[in-house]
Amino acid sequence: MRYLSTRGHADRKQFCEILLEGLAPDGGLYLPEHYPQVDAAMLTKWRGLSYADLAFEVLSLYIDDIPAADLKAICAKTYTEEVFGSREIVPLKKLEDGLYLEALSNGPTLAFKDMAMQLLGNLFEYELARRGEELNILGATSGDTGSAAEYAMRGKHGVRVFMLSPQGRMSPFQQAQMFSLQDENIHNIAVEGVFDDCQDIVKAVSNDLDFKRQYKIGTVNSINWARLMAQVVYYFAGYFQATTSNAEKVSFTVPSGNFGNVCAGHVARSMGLPIAKLVVATNENDVLDEFFRTGVYRVRGSADTHETSSPSMDISKASNFERFVFDLLGRDGQKTKALFHDQLASQGRFDLSADAAFASAAQRYGFVSGKSVHADRLATIRDTWQRFAAMIDTHTADGVKVAREQLEAGVPMIVLETALPIKFAATIEEALGQSPTRPAKFEGLEALPKRVKLLPADVALIKRYIAENVH
Ligand SMILES: *Cc1c(COP(=O)(O)O)cnc(C)c1O
Repeated sequence: MRYLSTRGHADRKQFCEILLEGLAPDGGLYLPEHYPQVDAAMLTKWRGLSYADLAFEVLSLYIDDIPAADLKAICAKTYTEEVFGSREIVPLKKLEDGLYLEALSNGPTLAFKDMAMQLLGNLFEYELARRGEELNILGATSGDTGSAAEYAMRGKHGVRVFMLSPQGRMSPFQQAQMFSLQDENIHNIAVEGVFDDCQDIVKAVSNDLDFKRQYKIGTVNSINWARLMAQVVYYFAGYFQATTSNAEKVSFTVPSGNFGNVCAGHVARSMGLPIAKLVVATNENDVLDEFFRTGVYRVRGSADTHETSSPSMDISKASNFERFVFDLLGRDGQKTKALFHDQLASQGRFDLSADAAFASAAQRYGFVSGKSVHADRLATIRDTWQRFAAMIDTHTADGVKVAREQLEAGVPMIVLETALPIKFAATIEEALGQSPTRPAKFEGLEALPKRVKLLPADVALIKRYIAENVH
């Protein structure tokens, strides 16, 4: 399998080449040259597999530069009951007939990003050792991504993490999760500023190419193909749990921000997994809902980007969306480049409403969308608790709200549960008048000793800190 750029660059790369890279040289995102197809015989064979073995089968279709035995060992080491809390890894929970939750958030940081990031940690360690190289991951986080990255990379050889977060802006639980890590290769940096300051610093450091090369700076953001590929696996696992034969179809509803999670659903569907609809659920930051309703993709300014009670979906643009648009436009790299490079830069929007491809987005690709706001989240959390005794988090609530608008008789609807309620306690208390349940292993988390460096929002000082801690 070779990988190409969504913006038409002529290079073709192997998996391990793009594993440690971010964007393609022309600013595009990497995608496989084609989507391998699964047939009925393969689905039948895969139906009975453990999650780790299923992951190995799916990944093998995309990776041919890691020996099979090594890849199998990496999958087996990643997807264990010990790390993810159950034998199924992503157990399906029935709410009522035809409506299910797929639990993706029982990993170390209680959010679905662990599903991919845990694999990424093991792939990075493997590939860096093979090359005899080191990597220093620099990132900015307002919550889930940073902690998932730290828990994936802690104690790994050849990798250090420098994670910037806006001081005092994360939920107390999220902050305690990150700052309580005592591993030597994990560096928490609390920046005196807001999330945008953190992101600007990461950009400034990454744009200093000499510094980047000298200190081997890399990232783990959601545009990494390996993360997306890892997420494809749980669409298969959810399908197998909700059906008994490969003649059945299911739909998925996905709480969405950067379009990473649901893009993996698009890949699974493109491989031939019998998915009827892919339902994109957004919060007040409805960039994606607007596109699927109108054909207009409009990036928001910071004044137009809302802070909501499902904060992991608070985005101004959807960084993985370019991958779907590339497929939608018949994989035309020049056209994709004209939209994402030229039009977005000059106008901040593009309009596909008159394009025949857009008219077929629902028909050919199964995409529909919906939006949920704070009042919807409260009502949905309350309703789900009262009727099914299931406590769901704010992001999953956005999913359940929108899923209910898209139910079809005879097609099971699977809502991806993207986090556990304990991470967003304040809104749960607002909805239910009681504190969320806390998994036993997180008792006393906030009281643990903290390891964090407080620094001003100053690029030079952050660079100096990195330089002093790379040896
Ligand atoms: C990251 C995240 C999302 C959004 O996922 P995307 O891949 O960015 O669409 C939704 N819910 C939770 C809890 C998250 O952490």
